[in-house]
Amino acid sequence: MADPVLIIGAGVAGMTAAVELADSGVDVILVDRLSTIGGNALDLYKAFPTDDCFYCFEGNRDRPGIRKCFYRSAMIDQPNISLYVNSEVGEITPKNGLFQVKLDVGPVYVNPKKCTLCGLCLTHSKAFTFTSPQCQPQSVKYDPSKSDEGDKKAESECPTRAINLDAQPTEETITVSDIVLATGYHEMKPVNMDEYGYGKIPNVITQLELAQILDPNGPSRGKLVRPSDGASVESVLMVQCVGSRDENHYPFCSKICCVFAIKHANIIALERTSAKVSVVYMDIRTYDRHEKYYRDARDAGVEFVRGRVTRIESGDDGKLDIIVYDSLLDKYLKFNVDLFVLSSALEPPPGIHTLSKSLGLSLSSGYFTPADRASGNEVVIGKHIYACGGALGPAEVPESVTQARAVASKILQSRK
Ligand SMILES: Cc1cc2nc3c(=O)[nH]c(=O)nc-3n(C[C@H](O)[C@H](O)[C@H](O)COP(=O)(O)OP(=O)(O)OC[C@H]3O[C@@H](n4cnc5c(N)ncnc54)[C@H](O)[C@@H]3O)c2cc1C
Ligand code: SF4
Ligand code: SF4
Repeated sequence: MADPVLIIGAGVAGMTAAVELADSGVDVILVDRLSTIGGNALDLYKAFPTDDCFYCFEGNRDRPGIRKCFYRSAMIDQPNISLYVNSEVGEITPKNGLFQVKLDVGPVYVNPKKCTLCGLCLTHSKAFTFTSPQCQPQSVKYDPSKSDEGDKKAESECPTRAINLDAQPTEETITVSDIVLATGYHEMKPVNMDEYGYGKIPNVITQLELAQILDPNGPSRGKLVRPSDGASVESVLMVQCVGSRDENHYPFCSKICCVFAIKHANIIALERTSAKVSVVYMDIRTYDRHEKYYRDARDAGVEFVRGRVTRIESGDDGKLDIIVYDSLLDKYLKFNVDLFVLSSALEPPPGIHTLSKSLGLSLSSGYFTPADRASGNEVVIGKHIYACGGALGPAEVPESVTQARAVASKILQSRK
């Protein structure tokens, strides 16, 4: 029997590659360092270009037992996928045309196959949480750093005996034929950019944090409120290219932040109609079909200002005074807003250098790069090594899914 394929990263790209391969009879080992799969998409509320729930992207798939939602049970029910969450890839050694890989597997405190989500443990201890109704595996999570006196009671009273507080990390060595890098990206936290006050001035947030506020499953249940005091938001200022196209941070354009900023501006302007939204930009890059979002936003009354933010101060009432230089009008404008939202650079995730080194790969702008770009094989990174989605650089979901399918098809072809 052929050796399994290792997929590192269980975001949209990794999950798609896993399901495509598994459905074709290939054994897959899918590893993610987080306790929940889904990657960034888990926190993003509506998705451009269709404004669907992120998990309904693949709603047309005819998979028995799955209504609209492609990923919800595919990861758990597909017998060819072995899922390792809370786990990291260690040393990788090429051996006889295969790869020997060490896996650091995190402790399994709550067995997802036994947890029925009855919620009893949540009433006993704050160390247990339920991330989101969309999370997979569908179970509560336990965080030992928040351990309190209710832990043991939760463990002993769990009706299905799903909790094991003595669980330990383990190490496994696996042999795989191919490696798929689906490690995605991170939204940069602009803590070192004093001009924006992030982390210092209240109510300065990133787009990813705004997505969580807008999400009906998020902390405010979808109500547009100020994080500092829960007051209703009446005005929002967004600023583009924070840390992107900037020689001091990331010289590249993060490609998708204009589109998702305008998506959020539209949600606010069209669904929360009392709030006013303005966007400060250098250039608006709504590539391809996404130009429609830009048109819709202008029609919905979103204000676009070409220029730069020059000063920000917080007032006593929790509002922010922000001075913007308008380069088209050649004058300074003053905004008084509840929320200041930064479209921050999308950067490679931590650990990507170690991973690339252990595979003998080079990186371009911090991301994996095709072995032979001229050949058009965008997803082939090395011999039996592939990459898809955000691992290749900032990418939208449809692009990530297409690349993941290309990876699956390359691997299947190589096995013929
Ligand atoms: C604010 C915002 C809004 C967006 N809105 C949209 C939208 O409306 N429509 C759209 O199409 N796209 C949108 N995107 C882009 C979308 O999030 C990405 O296209 C998508 O998440 C890419 O999926 P991925 O699987 O490549 O990467 P990710 O979602 O980043 O997943 C990567 C996974 O790999 C794991 N990982 C990383 N390194 C390791 C390692 N060494 N070991 C183990 N695990 C690892 C991570 O924990 C993560 O789970 C948005 C992005 C942002 C920031
Ligand atoms: S008590 Fe047990 S079954 Fe119920 S939610 Fe907690 S871990 Fe799951
Ligand atoms: S996509 Fe837009 S906001 Fe993002 S870096 Fe490029 S120009 Fe700036």
